[in-house]
Amino acid sequence: MSSDARRIQVLLPLPLSGPFDYLIDGDIFLEEGDFVTVPLGSRTLQGVVWNMSPENSNIAIEKLKPVTAKLDLPALPQSLRAFIDWVASYTLSPPGAVLKMAVSVPRAFDRARKKNFYRLSPDLPKKLTDARRSVANLDVPMGMPMALKIWAELASVGEGVVRGMVKAGQMTPVEVMGDAPYPEPDPFHIGPHLSDEQDHAARHMRELVGEHHFKPVLLEGITGSGKTEVYFEAIAEALKTDGGQILVLVPEIALTAQWLTRFEKRFGAEPVIWHSELTPAQRRRAWWAVGQKDITKRAKVVVGARSALFLPFVDLKLIVVDEEHSPTFKQEDGVMYHGRDMAVVRAMQADCPVILASATPSLETILNAEAGKYDWLYLGQRHGTAQLPNMTAIDMRQQKLAAGTWLSDPLRAALAKNLAQGEQSLLYLNRRGYAPLTLCRTCGHRMECPHCSAWLVEHRKGEKLICHHCGFFCGKPKVCPECENTDSMVACGPGVERVAEEVRDLFPDARIAVMASDEISSPAQMRQMITSIERHEVDFIIGTQIVTKGYHFPMLTLVGVIDADLGLSGGDPRAAERTWQQLEQVAGRAGRAERPGQVVFQSYAPEHPVIAALISGDGQAFLEQEAFDREQQMLPPFGKLAAIIVSGADFNAVAKTARRIAALAPKDKAITVLGPVPAPMAYLRGKNRFRLLIKAEKQVKLQKIMGQWLSSCPLERGVSLQVDIDPYSFF
Ligand code: ADP
Ligand code: ZN
Repeated sequence: MSSDARRIQVLLPLPLSGPFDYLIDGDIFLEEGDFVTVPLGSRTLQGVVWNMSPENSNIAIEKLKPVTAKLDLPALPQSLRAFIDWVASYTLSPPGAVLKMAVSVPRAFDRARKKNFYRLSPDLPKKLTDARRSVANLDVPMGMPMALKIWAELASVGEGVVRGMVKAGQMTPVEVMGDAPYPEPDPFHIGPHLSDEQDHAARHMRELVGEHHFKPVLLEGITGSGKTEVYFEAIAEALKTDGGQILVLVPEIALTAQWLTRFEKRFGAEPVIWHSELTPAQRRRAWWAVGQKDITKRAKVVVGARSALFLPFVDLKLIVVDEEHSPTFKQEDGVMYHGRDMAVVRAMQADCPVILASATPSLETILNAEAGKYDWLYLGQRHGTAQLPNMTAIDMRQQKLAAGTWLSDPLRAALAKNLAQGEQSLLYLNRRGYAPLTLCRTCGHRMECPHCSAWLVEHRKGEKLICHHCGFFCGKPKVCPECENTDSMVACGPGVERVAEEVRDLFPDARIAVMASDEISSPAQMRQMITSIERHEVDFIIGTQIVTKGYHFPMLTLVGVIDADLGLSGGDPRAAERTWQQLEQVAGRAGRAERPGQVVFQSYAPEHPVIAALISGDGQAFLEQEAFDREQQMLPPFGKLAAIIVSGADFNAVAKTARRIAALAPKDKAITVLGPVPAPMAYLRGKNRFRLLIKAEKQVKLQKIMGQWLSSCPLERGVSLQVDIDPYSFF
C-alpha cells in the first residue's frame, strides 16, 4: 500500500446495508458520483463513488481493497445521489437496492457503437472507372458520411468497388456515434388560445418556472377542462431556458398515444419516452441523452413511468405528475415507493417546481394545498361548449336480470338509443377476462391457484384459467377435479369478455372493442385501437381501468358502469376515495365535445356516499366526510401508516417470525401495532404471508423507530420481510 492511499466509500447496486469502504492511491483521480469497478469477494462489480471522505468507518485501512478501475461513464449527478439516499431512508430500503433502480437499466451503459462511415473525397481524379464514377456521381450532399453498404446499394455496384475507392483514398473514413440526438421540442410553436381561467393558471405556472425554485402546485380541473394544454405552457416556459429539462410522469406509459400526438402538435417534436418495455437500444439512447453535459445533444423533455425519476437529469427545471391520484404510481415490489410523492422529493432536490395535475386529486394532495404548502390552481369549466355529463344510478336490487347477464333494462335501452343515434358508448368493468370464478355446480368446488389464495380467472381468449397474481394458468377442466362430474364446471360473475359477449348478443351488427391490458400487447396496438375509436370504427368500447386514463373521444356520449360497487369492500382505507376517483374519471370520458354525455351507474347500494356523491356532483362534500372519517381513525394523511409483510415457504417459520416482530414492537403511546394476522392473500406465489399494520401519530419519526425495531428482530430461516411505508395495497 502506498503512503498516499486513502479511504473512500462505494455504493454497490445490491441490497447491502450501505456503501462499502475501498482504497484509492494517488494515481487514480475520482470524484463523488463516478462509476468504478471494485472487488467483492471473488467478483468484480460496478459501483458508484458515494463518499470521498468518509468519517466514521471502523474497518482498519490495512484491510481494505483498492478500487480496480474508473469507468468511462458520466458521473451520477449529485441531485440523483441525494435522491437515492432520500428514497432509501424513507422507504427503509437498502441504498444499494435504490441505486440498482438507477443504474441497472439493462444495457443502458453500453456505449453507442461507433460506426465507420465513409465520405467522398473532395478532389477526385478526373478519370474513374464507370463503377466508381456511378458512386462519385450519386446525388448525395457533399461530405455526407454513409455506410459502405449504403454507398454500394445506392450506386448499384458491389461493395468491393467502394472498398477499392477507400483504398485509393477516393473515400475517407469518418467516425460517427451511433445514437443521434433527439429532435428538439420547440417552445415557440403556436399553442392554443387559452380561456381566461386557463390563462390565469398558465401564467401562474410560467412564473413559478421562471423563479427556478422548489414549489409544488396542485392543478385541479374537471375532466376536459384543459389541464394538459395548461401545463404544456409551463413546459414551454421551462424549454426556453438553456438546456433545461422537464420530466412528465404518467401512470401507464403504454397508454399515452393521444398524449404524445398532442405533445408533438404543440412542440413540433416527440418527447423522449421512458418505461420498462423499451428495447435496450432505446434505453441506451435515452439514458445517455438525459445525462448529456452538452446542451445541444441533451434530451429536454422526458415522459415516463415512475422509474424515470431515477434518470440522471443534469438540469431539471420542471416535473409534472399527470393523474397524480393514480394508485399505479405506487411501486408494489422491491423498493416500495410512491412515484407521486417521490416526484415531489426529486423536485425539492432539483429546486424546481412540480405540478400535480388531476380531476380528482388525492386527499393527501388536497390537504397539502389547503394547508398552503402547495399552490392550488383550479379549472372549473370544460373547454368550449362541452358540459359535464348527466349522471344516474340504477338500483340493481329492483332489476330482474336473466341468469348470466349483467346489463339492466335501462342501460340496455340507453345503449340501443345511443347506437341508433350513431354515437359511441363505453361500458366499464374493472375485471379482466371472462369470469372471475369457475365453480362446480354439483359439489361447489372452486378453481383456485395452486400457488396463491386466489381464484383462477377464466379467459375465453386462449381458453385458459389464469391466476392474476402469479400468472399460473391451466385449461378449463371438462371434469370437476373434486367430484369428477362431467360438464359441471360453470363460469360465475362477469369480466369484460363476458360483457362483450352480452353486448354482441344484443347488438349483433355493432362494432365492439375490448380494452383491457391483456387484450393489448403493445403500445402500437394500443395506438391502433385508439385511432380506430377516434375514427368511429367502433360503437361499443368495453374496458377495464385502462380506459379511465385521460382519453378524449368526441363521439363518446354514454358511459355505463357495470358494477359501481366493485372496489368498495375490502380492508383498504382508501377504498371509497379510490372508487370515487376511478368512477369520476371514467364518467369524465362522456360528452367531452359538442354532444352532451350521460353516465349510468349500476349499483346494489346507490345510497352509498360514493355513488351519492357522483350522482349529486358534490365531490366536495364527499371528500370532506372522507377526510373527517380518516382523521377520526388517524389514518393517512392525518396519521402515518406502514405495513410489514412477513413471508416464506414454511408456515410455522413465518408465523413465528411475525409473532416475534409483534412482541418486540416499540412501547410508545403514539404507535399502534395491529396484527400479525395471516394476510388476505395468505398464500402468494408459493409463500405464506402474514401482515402487521403500524399506525402512528403524525409527529412520530416512523422510519427511525421501525429501522431500529426491525434490525433487532432475528428472522427465521427462509423468511423475508417487506416494509411498506404508506401502503396502498392491503392484500
Ligand atoms: P383535461 O386534461 O383537463 O381532461 P384536456 O387538456 O385533455 O383536458 O382538454 C380537453 C380537450 O379540449 C382536448 O381535446 C384539448 O385539446 C381541448 N382544449 C382544451 N383547452 C383548449 C383551448 N384553450 N383551445 C383549444 N382546445 C382546447
Ligand atoms: Zn397464483
